[in-house]
Amino acid sequence: MDSPSRPHFILAIDGVSGSGKSSTAKTVAKQLGILHLDTGAMYRAVTLLALEKRLQPGQIREIETMVEALHWDADSQGKLTVDGRDLSREIRTDRVTAAVSDFARIPEVRHSLVPVQRAIGMRQSAVVEGRDMATVVFPDARFKFFMSASPEVRARRRVMELHSMGLPGDYAQVLANLSERDSKDSGREHSPLSIAADAIEIDTSGLTFDGQVAIIVTHVLKNLA
Ligand code: C5P
Repeated sequence: MDSPSRPHFILAIDGVSGSGKSSTAKTVAKQLGILHLDTGAMYRAVTLLALEKRLQPGQIREIETMVEALHWDADSQGKLTVDGRDLSREIRTDRVTAAVSDFARIPEVRHSLVPVQRAIGMRQSAVVEGRDMATVVFPDARFKFFMSASPEVRARRRVMELHSMGLPGDYAQVLANLSERDSKDSGREHSPLSIAADAIEIDTSGLTFDGQVAIIVTHVLKNLA
């Protein structure tokens, strides 16, 4: 919660697929008592909805019309709903994961989602997490972190995450998908994945989960004091 003793601030966490951004951002937000906004979940939701309508990434006009009409909401915990639907589980399937980078690269999709992300972040202090938080969406964020890890470590973590959600996860397939998404997300023309010049990079390959959370929380609390 924002309070006179703690002014409004944005903590941006960007990073490669499977670097542990989401779980780290969620725990950091909880420890700091602020909202967690997972913007990857928004691109995944758009992908799921487009696939439900059997739209291909090339059908720009139809996708734009669909995205413009969506109503997004984030509760005080940052739990997202789209037109009142909680899609948190369905957006983690292999089908969505394989297609999401092709929809996320569409400028019309980004133009529609970025104002929603900014509006949620302006409302209250938040940990905002994605690929372009520190570079494009919140360039003035008070705190900026970039998380990386080796592809093998990331694939192992993603498989464990999928299994913990009761979803199937094959290591080789997950590793191939991570590498493909890294290359598509870094190589695209609009808002590519890149490290902001003023971001602190954390390579989590050799860190424990608690260790990576502590690095961020300690830095924030020290600088807010
Ligand atoms: O974070 P997560 O892996 O769930 O993100 C899924 C995909 O959404 C990414 O691979 C990327 O293509 C896209 N994305 C994006 N910009 C963001 C967040 C996610 O393009 N801010």
